[in-house]
Amino acid sequence: MIEVGAAVTGLKAAIQAAKAIKDVNDQAELNAAVAEIMEKLASSQSDLGALLAEHHELIEENRQLKEKLEKQQRFNKYRLEWTEGGYLIMPLRDEYVTDVEPSHVICPKCKEDGRLSPMNDDGLWYKCISCGYLACREGKTRQPRTNRFSG
Ligand SMILES: [Zn+2]
Repeated sequence: MIEVGAAVTGLKAAIQAAKAIKDVNDQAELNAAVAEIMEKLASSQSDLGALLAEHHELIEENRQLKEKLEKQQRFNKYRLEWTEGGYLIMPLRDEYVTDVEPSHVICPKCKEDGRLSPMNDDGLWYKCISCGYLACREGKTRQPRTNRFSG
């Protein structure tokens, strides 16, 4: 990892060397000084290039984390709950129920994959419209139970 301080120090050294060049009269010394300045500038350019690449990487990482966080926050409006039939579902919390967002349930299995999938409700079963996960509303004796959520 390149440090910003090192890149700045390199540039400062190049500037100092350039300032000192006006006092040099000997051609060989002048050539050596110019070569030194060129070397310092090339090194600084390389450091800055690496810094820029790192900067872009961090911006991208930050964007991805924000996106992930926003996705995760959508689930904060739901709570995990057992049906009487012993299945996990995630109902919308009462305080978030509005005219435009009526009471509904989402799939806890899809949530683990970061997907917010509403479930259909036929009165007996909740069924995920995305993965097909079934949750029986009541009674533990109803069939089928093959799709039971297992984590
Ligand atoms: Zn699902």
